[in-house]
Amino acid sequence: MVIDAGPLLRGEVNRLDIDYMLSAEPLDGIFFDSDAHVSGVITDNAGYMRLSLKVNLKYRGECARCLAPVNGVFSLAFERTVVTEGTLTDEQLDEGFDEYVVIKGIYLDVDEPLREELLLGFPNKLLCSDDCQGLCPKCGKPLKDGDCGCPKKEIDPRLAILKTYFDKKEEK
Ligand SMILES: [Zn+2]
Ligand SMILES: [Zn+2]
Repeated sequence: MVIDAGPLLRGEVNRLDIDYMLSAEPLDGIFFDSDAHVSGVITDNAGYMRLSLKVNLKYRGECARCLAPVNGVFSLAFERTVVTEGTLTDEQLDEGFDEYVVIKGIYLDVDEPLREELLLGFPNKLLCSDDCQGLCPKCGKPLKDGDCGCPKKEIDPRLAILKTYFDKKEEK
């Protein structure tokens, strides 16, 4: 959503309310419901402008360990200092990319910081539960469904080489 910040910049108002429906881009295999409602405000306090945004995103994905479907709601809320173009140097903006948001001309694209915050804050891995045991490496059944009957003690072939080495050492 691109906000026309003209009235704020001209001093006609000292706050702009933000209210729109976001259609978030899928994020690496995660799908967001398109009816996410973004709300927030841009305030101007004697030239010091702040953006405050929040959104609850319903998402669907799969467990990183057992591939079971996972869904939930991710709540995102953040604030940024709003600056006009040219106020800060590129270095300052690079360093404070999660602190500032820049008005280009009279327009402020609020989807951009929102996407950045989403990338920063959304879990890298979705899990069906924190202690998900994943899948059996032999038969591929989810371990949470109970014992699949596969032999449990199996030495990793890379470790097997080490084991032979130590066994030989012990023989001496
Ligand atoms: Zn799982
Ligand atoms: Zn198994």
